[in-house]
Amino acid sequence: MNQGAPEGAIDRVVGEIERMGAKAHLSRGSFRTVIGAVGEENALDQVHLSSLDGVEKVVPIMKPYKLASREFHEEDSVVEIGGGKSIFGAPIPKVKIGGTHAGCIAGPCAIENEEMLNKIARHVRDGGATVLRGGVFKPRTSPYSFQGHGEPALKWMRATGDELGMPICVEVMDTRQVEMMEKYVDCFQIGARNMQNFDLLREVGKTQKPVLLKRGLAATVKDWLLSAEYVLSQRNRGVILCERGIKTFEDSARYTLDITSIPVAKQWSHLPIVVDPSHCAGKREWVPSVALAGMAAGAHGIIVEVHYCPSEALCDGPQALLPEMFKDLMTQLRQIAAIHKKEFTKTPEPVTV
Ligand code: PEP
Ligand code: MN
Repeated sequence: MNQGAPEGAIDRVVGEIERMGAKAHLSRGSFRTVIGAVGEENALDQVHLSSLDGVEKVVPIMKPYKLASREFHEEDSVVEIGGGKSIFGAPIPKVKIGGTHAGCIAGPCAIENEEMLNKIARHVRDGGATVLRGGVFKPRTSPYSFQGHGEPALKWMRATGDELGMPICVEVMDTRQVEMMEKYVDCFQIGARNMQNFDLLREVGKTQKPVLLKRGLAATVKDWLLSAEYVLSQRNRGVILCERGIKTFEDSARYTLDITSIPVAKQWSHLPIVVDPSHCAGKREWVPSVALAGMAAGAHGIIVEVHYCPSEALCDGPQALLPEMFKDLMTQLRQIAAIHKKEFTKTPEPVTV
């Protein structure tokens, strides 16, 4: 739309798009409003749309992912995690990720028990993480491995987040878990193995909670953005991409972090992107270098696993950073962020461990 196009003109265009059988998606930037018309290309009368009051131009988006594309939303999207009140009544701080806002999501791979979680959470908060992670449903290669404690662990997670003033990010594995989990979490994590679980993507897309979308083990950047499109097409605008490594012939580390995907995804899409250095490295000694490389490539932050006693971790112990390592890494990450004119969200008041 033209700069300063009145609301009436915007409503009229939306009405016309819907009359043609397409869905209208509004993107309000600081300069202009873009109206995305998503539907059958043939059904959309472009000449008619260009003739409407306030329309600057009609641009067909050739990319298969429309709402995730830079063409639809020129500026970087900033996604907010948290805000509002928790199910237990505590106020939840808002954390921004995207644009100039870098974020750090940290915590254990899986939640073993409430005490351990609380201790780890204090460590990561002290080190500079602003969002707490922790799995309650774990996608394990073997059905005999620890599968997570489910809803009781979600309650521990919520209570810990409330106590420390941290929004929480938890993996959802199945459409049947979405409704129950939505009550507790501030951000849904979609795991690598579920990146193309389209029903699950649609289901979290119907919620108001942001979605951290991991890249699939064998997914191209295009596949990944199409998965993001599933969420966006349900009117959930809060997608954060997460590069966590892909399968290659290299078997020295757990997966190969595709550094190149970061500038690629940033050019093709407006969505924020964070790096998960834990799952690709698989070994704690390698995690800091990978995290720094991801940040240097332009990521908007990291999601990382931390444990003070990895030998007692029920999942992914060997890749968990020790609290001191995490603290040092955050100091270095802040410096790299500054080179890219990004800033990690302010660390909340430290809590004595
Ligand atoms: C996790 O974050 O613990 C996890 C299982 O990640 P991914 O889906 O990337 O393997
Ligand atoms: Mn893990």
